[in-house]
Amino acid sequence: MKRPDWYTSGQGHIWLPYTQMRTARPALPVVAASGTRLTLADGRELVDGISSWWSTVHGYRHPHIEEALRGQLEVLPHVMLGGLAHEQAYVLAERLAKLLPGNLNHVFFSDSGSVAVEVAMKMAAQFWLNQGQRRVKFLCFRGGYHGDTFATMSVCDPDEGMHSLFKGALLEQVVVDLPRNAADEAALGEVLDRHRGDLAGIIVEPLVQGAGGMVFHDPFTLQALRRLADAHDLLLIFDEIFVGLGRLGEAMFACEIADVQPDIVTLSKALTGGTLPLAATIASARIYDGFLSDDPMSALMHGPTYMGNAMGCAAANASLDLFEREPRLEQARAIGKQLETLLAPARYLPGVRDVRVRGAIGVIQLDGPAPADRLSAACIKRGVWLRPFRDVLYTTPPLVTGEDEIVRIGNAMVDAVRELS
Ligand code: PLP
Repeated sequence: MKRPDWYTSGQGHIWLPYTQMRTARPALPVVAASGTRLTLADGRELVDGISSWWSTVHGYRHPHIEEALRGQLEVLPHVMLGGLAHEQAYVLAERLAKLLPGNLNHVFFSDSGSVAVEVAMKMAAQFWLNQGQRRVKFLCFRGGYHGDTFATMSVCDPDEGMHSLFKGALLEQVVVDLPRNAADEAALGEVLDRHRGDLAGIIVEPLVQGAGGMVFHDPFTLQALRRLADAHDLLLIFDEIFVGLGRLGEAMFACEIADVQPDIVTLSKALTGGTLPLAATIASARIYDGFLSDDPMSALMHGPTYMGNAMGCAAANASLDLFEREPRLEQARAIGKQLETLLAPARYLPGVRDVRVRGAIGVIQLDGPAPADRLSAACIKRGVWLRPFRDVLYTTPPLVTGEDEIVRIGNAMVDAVRELS
């Protein structure tokens, strides 16, 4: 492929994410993106089957978001939130509070999903510290993934996940399997009894564990966690960074689908429609009230410089407009229905362990580690960008992806797996 000059001259200097820089296939130079398509330097167009790590739900360059960004750029691109206020952050906070169920009414902004989870963990730990209780550990789950920073690595799967190298060098972990039935729930209750007094809370990716392997679980699991959290006086954190904001099709948030009220929710990714980095940690009134005092030191001592960045908040407000005006949930459900049919033939291919679909998430799970480069190349050959990991080839397309493009994605996935045998 012809490579642009910037690519060739910068290649020796850039350090890419999750990439063994010695052996990885060269990254594909993207020169433009529009709708569901990426344009490569050599002119090829790929349908983005994973919406840039699950973020570009409205497609690239949606005119409504672009217009909001242009307008905001001319008025106020950024101002610190410490001691100063701006309209976009306040409007967004109110909208998120109204959109989330129950009394999840207090919004703390940050600039990435990992930091939103860090903030959730810090909030939970300090909620107890403010009451004179030192409870700084979290219950987390095998297969879980919550980010790449030190605290968030401490609530990821310690053995199977990408952070296993750091095992033993992180915050102390309490890791268990997701409870899937009454017997699991009872057993987990015993684990929590043993940790009484030192756990701050439970953190879980509700309904779908994403980067841990696209593992699905039922509302029962979340309802059981709520019961256990109540019985053991623990805070319940739902990390909705992947599934929140429409991906599952049934409702905007997994907590609504499961009819479970968490104490803290984290959001990012689709929040700005994949245009600018922004994340939010949303706490219930009980948590927020736990920081109210005459003592300045019981305030939440956290303040990323770019928190509540005005451009990011403007993009998020425009993204929420689109969720209101356009039928994203219906689109997610329609994508899911199509993927069910399209991926079904993969069930009978050798080397396939499972095929599953939930909302606009379609997964082919293999018997062992996915040969990521080969699968990815096979999909690119068919005009589709996908990035397999662990043992899964999966798609999480933009929710605006049309029927023909979903057919292209689904067929590329099945053909790519077929080509392996
Ligand atoms: N939590 C979940 C559930 C995620 O899926 C991710 C990213 O994939 C994160 C946290 C971390 O978000 P970020 O990559 O923006 O730091």
